[in-house]
Amino acid sequence: MKTLIQRKELDLEKVKAMQAALIAWYEKNHRDLPWRKNKNPYFTWISEVMLQQTRVETVIPYFLKFIQRFPDVQALAESDEEEILKAWEGLGYYSRAIYLHRGAKMIMNQYGGKIPERLIELKKIPGIGSYTAGAILSIAYDQPVPAVDGNVMRVFSRIFEIPDDITQMQTRKKMESLGQSVISQENPSHFNQGMMDLGALICTPNSPKCDICPLQCLCSAYKSGKQQKLPVKGKKKAIKEIKMEVGIVQAGDKILLTKRPAEGILANLWALPIKERQTDLQEGQSILSEVEENYGIKIMDCQFLFMKKHVFTHQKWLMNVYQLKSSEQVRVDYPEMDWVTWNEIEQYPCPTAFLKVIKEAQKIL
Ligand code: SF4
Repeated sequence: MKTLIQRKELDLEKVKAMQAALIAWYEKNHRDLPWRKNKNPYFTWISEVMLQQTRVETVIPYFLKFIQRFPDVQALAESDEEEILKAWEGLGYYSRAIYLHRGAKMIMNQYGGKIPERLIELKKIPGIGSYTAGAILSIAYDQPVPAVDGNVMRVFSRIFEIPDDITQMQTRKKMESLGQSVISQENPSHFNQGMMDLGALICTPNSPKCDICPLQCLCSAYKSGKQQKLPVKGKKKAIKEIKMEVGIVQAGDKILLTKRPAEGILANLWALPIKERQTDLQEGQSILSEVEENYGIKIMDCQFLFMKKHVFTHQKWLMNVYQLKSSEQVRVDYPEMDWVTWNEIEQYPCPTAFLKVIKEAQKIL
């Protein structure tokens, strides 16, 4: 059976009624969020990037601190990457911060510091995809460009009773094209923000509040009682478990921090030495060899301390943490490393996985 988005059958009256009801509801009930205080494309950009995979309540204090420290594109472009990562510490998905920095530099170099108003240019900026571009263009520049993310796909799936699997790229493309067809030409900013708020407050994943929904009389899934069955989502890939060994390398009153590689997970952040456990070695040997061979540090004693877990989107680390004692604070130029006191660690951008380990180790060492 062909779905609605394949048949391209849209009831224009329903679309008009939906626009009117959604915008009226938004204007009365919208969330009072700091990035909505005025139309500032930089604020929209920063907030939308922070909101990817992160809850609004978590984002608000980060956003306020971030724009205080980096108030505009120029300030962000001219800042040091480590300072930006430090401001991002705890938000996770650090590549977002690195792309923001690269994007700000590109906007300074190619657009004189003004965030472009054309979709084609906006999408060339590092870290800006269709959703963020749509949010910036509609919210800050009043252009009728859809901003379709998981929340909006859920609302569309229900209103139009679309049975397509929203984890598939082709469904996302179709939803974006549907978004282009239904967005209000007169008030795209409030339409898109209305969709965002409806998805967050009313048409929630598990218990949609249909009784108070402004789109109830237009919602096909509500009429057929299928709202709990939509959207269709294919099975998630199982999270891969990786056994890691982490070293608290101590020499005198200092411990060793190392900068992670520029590519891959937790890129460019400062961390404790870590190595995936090699099954052919005894426990503790993987991290011991890593520290001795890669950092040139002679270890006198290696003791197991505790185990810690940390879950990322696609992998889970099971970290066995070891105390590795050395007699001297050896320094090599490569890889980057620093010897620091426990208190000095807070000056470095360090991801939550390692901060959890450091906090626990500090209690017992
Ligand atoms: S009526 Fe229910 S399912 Fe339909 S859009 Fe509203 S909250 Fe979502």
